[in-house]
Amino acid sequence: MSSDKEKRVKKSKKEKKEKKEKKEKKEKKEKKEKRSASPTSSEPSTKKQKPTSSSSTGPTVTLLLFYQYIEPLWSPSRHKQALSHIQKTGELYNLGGRMRCAREGLNCTITGDREGVENWIKDLKSFDDTFLKTEFKLTHNLPLGQSFPKLNAFKVDEIVNYGLSGSRAPSIGKTAIHLEPKEYNEKMKEKDTVIIDVRNYYESQIGAFKPPIGGAELIDPKMRKSTEFPAWLDLQETKERIKGKNVLMYCTGGVRCERASALLRGKLEGEDRGLGVKGVFQLQGGIHKYIEEFPEGGLWSGKNYTFDKRFAHAGLSLEKEGKVEVVGKCEACLKPWDRFRGKRRCPTCGVPSLICKECVDRDESGDKKIGKDVKCKLCVEEGVESKADWKRREEELMNGYEEKLKVKEREKKRTEKDSRNSENTDTPSTSNDVANSEEANDITANVTTPDSNPNNETRLWIGNLNNKKVTPDNLIQIIPNIKFVQWLYGPDGKGCKGFCFVEMKSEEDAGRAKAGEGVKVFGRPVKINYQEKDGKSSWPPPNAIYY
Ligand SMILES: [Zn+2]
Ligand SMILES: [Zn+2]
Repeated sequence: MSSDKEKRVKKSKKEKKEKKEKKEKKEKKEKKEKRSASPTSSEPSTKKQKPTSSSSTGPTVTLLLFYQYIEPLWSPSRHKQALSHIQKTGELYNLGGRMRCAREGLNCTITGDREGVENWIKDLKSFDDTFLKTEFKLTHNLPLGQSFPKLNAFKVDEIVNYGLSGSRAPSIGKTAIHLEPKEYNEKMKEKDTVIIDVRNYYESQIGAFKPPIGGAELIDPKMRKSTEFPAWLDLQETKERIKGKNVLMYCTGGVRCERASALLRGKLEGEDRGLGVKGVFQLQGGIHKYIEEFPEGGLWSGKNYTFDKRFAHAGLSLEKEGKVEVVGKCEACLKPWDRFRGKRRCPTCGVPSLICKECVDRDESGDKKIGKDVKCKLCVEEGVESKADWKRREEELMNGYEEKLKVKEREKKRTEKDSRNSENTDTPSTSNDVANSEEANDITANVTTPDSNPNNETRLWIGNLNNKKVTPDNLIQIIPNIKFVQWLYGPDGKGCKGFCFVEMKSEEDAGRAKAGEGVKVFGRPVKINYQEKDGKSSWPPPNAIYY
């Protein structure tokens, strides 16, 4: 505690001085702290979030975590503006931390004083109104030692590195249904359900969900980095495990699930349609929000690994009572341990090592050195022998996936070409099994998860319809649950103009229809857009046809 007092005194002195000088001093102090930070120093996470009474106990730090995807993507020049904006305002308010800035959005872990952080958010919202809907996760009153000394704003391709930028990026519009912690908690109790931990293996080692017996089955993809996820998802054994199930996903704060679930949903509506997965769900706000709402732990066991200076945290009540279950084990002596503090990494694969204080002390004093044979749990489990051995395995997985992707991309191009041909000539394509159908097939027949329908629309624009074959009578077979349609006849007052507007019975029905977009009907892939009610045209229209 004396170090706390020291910091407070230091800080109050600092506040009287110039901003620049303050920053320099802070950086220096942080460097010093960093040097002395070893597993022997006291654990900051046990001191964190001390409920500060209204009579303040001195200067504290506010931590901000958030992410936001931007759709459509920022243009390259807007991206540049965004980077410069967050950097400039970050410096202005004297913030520290990491800001990943991509054309697809922002992912930030930031610290600063409360006012500075709040002003920075305000400026961000006025820079781009997409951020008006962002869930900003703020933790106030953290000890000063948990602030980041420097601000690093990076220009990146993806806000989470999945190797899925550009044309490989699944649309964020296709993410899973977001469940609030309480709903997610109930879902974990259901059978025929699997839970995928989308984090890296070393993070899961100190904490994970523990679904009840008879409830969901936990699947740990055992990844060393996020870029392995798409390859893992594509493995036959993964497909076997999720077949016919409800799939739940979770990660630290929610951001990794966004792309991960979009990737899965894209596959389930395409090549993996046959798996019969019932639904895909993700934990809104991640473990972070879950343990906030379940301070007693709920179905969570152990600690949540974080990328800020708390390193890890658990339910507040559990931490207060010192009842956090220790889930991990020291890699050197195998005793229960859950603090990643040292700089050591696995000698074969390079993930952070989980080593207890005693083992570190003995290593430092030379009493008992930690040898090269001390590897991460995953390397031990998989029998990875050397760095070269791990590299070979990693390449095998990634190259195998790359090859499959190339084949798929070629197939996709061919299918697109086929469908373009069939649009031009109206001859059914042979590349799609429903294309030959002369019946009005239900485009939602294979939809497993409705589109998220972000603005809760019920009015849709339906396009690219075969103008000779689609009629108001068979439209209801093609898209079930239409309430009424505004039918637009062809130029001769007959047939169909090729598109129409419909009112769906519910928002979910609209989402189901949207998720069926692209399915071929009479040889043409149906196009569907949400159609905002603009107030200009009367809706329902006077010529509406009700079903
Ligand atoms: Zn140990
Ligand atoms: Zn390893």
